[in-house]
Amino acid sequence: MIPPTFDYAVPKTLSEAITLLGQNPEAKILAGGHSLIPMMRYRLASPALLIDINRLEGLSYIREDGGWLKIGAMTRESELDESELIHKKYPLLADTARMIADPVVRNLATVGGNLAHADPANDHPATMLAYGAQVVAASPKGNRTIPITDFFKGTFETALAHDEVLTEIQIPANKPRTGGCYLKIERKVGDYATAAVAAQVTLDASGKCSYVGIGLTNVGLVPIKATAAEAALHGKAPTDDAIRAAAGLAAAAADPSADPRGSAEYKRSLVKTLTVRALKQAVARAKG
Ligand SMILES: Cc1cc2nc3c(=O)[nH]c(=O)nc-3n(C[C@H](O)[C@H](O)[C@H](O)COP(=O)(O)OP(=O)(O)OC[C@H]3O[C@@H](n4cnc5c(N)ncnc54)[C@H](O)[C@@H]3O)c2cc1C
Repeated sequence: MIPPTFDYAVPKTLSEAITLLGQNPEAKILAGGHSLIPMMRYRLASPALLIDINRLEGLSYIREDGGWLKIGAMTRESELDESELIHKKYPLLADTARMIADPVVRNLATVGGNLAHADPANDHPATMLAYGAQVVAASPKGNRTIPITDFFKGTFETALAHDEVLTEIQIPANKPRTGGCYLKIERKVGDYATAAVAAQVTLDASGKCSYVGIGLTNVGLVPIKATAAEAALHGKAPTDDAIRAAAGLAAAAADPSADPRGSAEYKRSLVKTLTVRALKQAVARAKG
């Protein structure tokens, strides 16, 4: 289908983009366009103005700084996939980027767009929930930092105000004895998840879990942080029994609907199995 008509602006600076956004209640930011343009073609979105931020400088980077891994919102999935730093120290993120769509999509799709789109089927939200990430939003009032747990308000709905642009994602910098893993079941390569699980674990010197993060993809109306499962493992040794108990709680936190990808029961059982496997792999990576 052909989208309805719209105006198109290519601001040169972030402040110009923010001003344009604030002046136009029907405007939308255009990043990689791989979610927004299909929505427009199906007429699920009809912005009167597209504000293309692809030519803004300084929104694409991956660096460690001040106890955080900082990722510019316009960083492409392929850049994550090609980053030595990500592969060496952030395996959960490396797994996630590699599983998103296909290389053609990954060359344009951005990390910021993946989060701002707030599709519970997108892969980064669960990963960021598992990491305990935060995002930075810029508006005419300045910058504000939003914990990822406060970011997803509903399906395709975030805590971003209309005049805010997501500029940066911040992930706690890798600590010793830390590992993560993202596992996804998809009908065919490049598809959205039938279900997926992100797990992040830090072990203390005695081998007990001092941090556990678990995020679930596409098994609810919003990305889900499996807090009861996290709490069940926290402070404990990650034995098979403890991991299985946590996976049961993660499955209970899932709220899937039946659709062509499978029944609710099937998806819940996938969450249980994937949580066991992702936690085991995260622990193995934490042990090095
Ligand atoms: C064939 C196909 C398969 C796909 N498979 C997967 C998959 O398996 N897993 C997955 O996670 N995703 C998948 N995607 C989605 C892809 O990753 C999207 O491109 C991504 O979710 C959105 O990023 P984008 O940069 O393209 O954002 P856009 O499409 O440009 O924008 C999406 C939304 O976010 C807003 N937005 C974007 N950037 C900002 C910002 N910086 N500040 C404020 N608002 C912003 C836009 O206004 C828009 O509402 C797939 C897409 C396609 C086309």
